[in-house]
Amino acid sequence: MDMSNEVSMGNEAAFSRACASLVGGVNSPVRSFTSVGGSPFFIREGHGSYVVDIEGRRYLDYVQSYGAIIHGHGDDGVLAAVMDAARKGTTFGAPTLGEVELAERIKAKVPGIDLVRLTSSGTEATMTALRLARGVTGRSKIIKFEGCYHGHSDALLASSGSGVASLGLPASVGVTPAAVLDTIVAPYNELPKIGEDVAAVIVEPVAANMGLVPASAGFLQELRRLATEAGALLIFDEVITGFRIAEGGASTLFGVTPDLWCFGKVIGGGLPVGAVAGPEEIMAYLAPTGPVYQAGTLSGNPLATAAGSAALRQLNSASYRMLAGRAEQLAFGLTKVIEEADLAVQIQRVESLLGIFFADEPVTNYREAVSSVERGIYAHFFHAMLKRGIAMAPGPYEVLFPGLAHTVDDVDKTIDIASAAAVEARD
Ligand code: PLP
Repeated sequence: MDMSNEVSMGNEAAFSRACASLVGGVNSPVRSFTSVGGSPFFIREGHGSYVVDIEGRRYLDYVQSYGAIIHGHGDDGVLAAVMDAARKGTTFGAPTLGEVELAERIKAKVPGIDLVRLTSSGTEATMTALRLARGVTGRSKIIKFEGCYHGHSDALLASSGSGVASLGLPASVGVTPAAVLDTIVAPYNELPKIGEDVAAVIVEPVAANMGLVPASAGFLQELRRLATEAGALLIFDEVITGFRIAEGGASTLFGVTPDLWCFGKVIGGGLPVGAVAGPEEIMAYLAPTGPVYQAGTLSGNPLATAAGSAALRQLNSASYRMLAGRAEQLAFGLTKVIEEADLAVQIQRVESLLGIFFADEPVTNYREAVSSVERGIYAHFFHAMLKRGIAMAPGPYEVLFPGLAHTVDDVDKTIDIASAAAVEARD
């Protein structure tokens, strides 16, 4: 078998080769084309707002590694930091100042955070937050919202949107009833009853794994009040929203302070990082200062923390004005050209995050998201965009991630192409 990557190979051949050694040819189900049909293209490289596949085709990329990239692919500052770190060693199993710097940068941007625990993924961050909440409160139940995705740990996979929803799975085989016994699922944007046995309520403050569904006015504020009243912790899963929708993320944008934050994506600058963060009186329950155990061989990895710090260092209030401006231009243009094609569409947007629902009315929860997706238009629109050089996520429950590398011209081009794609998707 020729295992070199130098031979010229098309996407179809690459996918066949991948399927022979990787399950379904991918390492994360959201990368498969299962819900839109066809097979994925293989990326050779990415620069700024563009990616190039192994056949040399260029795509304007709105996936941006599902939001892990905010400065565009191959950002000079991030690359320099990673290369500098790599020359000094890739991992030690002992503390480095790079970890301290990343934690300090997170604290500096988000009021209310005293201490941070770095992990290697968002999944680990939410898992840790739940264990910590249970440890602190001595309670066992958690409340999550339908259509919110918090990673792939057993207790949080129930009704979880994103890839699980795209594949049409209610949850996952292999998750035992006992593992979800303490998980209560509530509809998004409806206030749940928080009983005395509830350790925590975990929420995406802007839901971005069932398409883009904003929290309705007062929802987060009321959750805060109810959680406090019930003695439960409020956990904001800011793995997507953190450092993307505002310099301090959702908690600063909405003026609601949770008890714990979960971060990922942007804080790794494109390398694997997650974090759980919060005030000292809660975070100190984690080992080694407290009794709640959590660990990781590669947690706080030198390359990942260097990339994360470089990414955060370059973000300021002007970045967020620019991001929101691009997203607004995109949302406005997409709405216009898709409606002109006689398709009912809702482009839902919070700052720089946006999602496309083919629906008559705004979508406010998972049930409404599913009924929009069941119209089946997204897959046609996706392919009509892709063949014209615009890459969106191959699943209807994902969002678009316009970033700092997307120019006004990129967005204009996207809107022009969407005009033709919408007509094709309709017919
Ligand atoms: N939380 C949210 C809101 C996410 O969107 C994701 C991933 O998309 C996760 C948690 C899990 O993060 P990871 O894929 O890094 O494990």
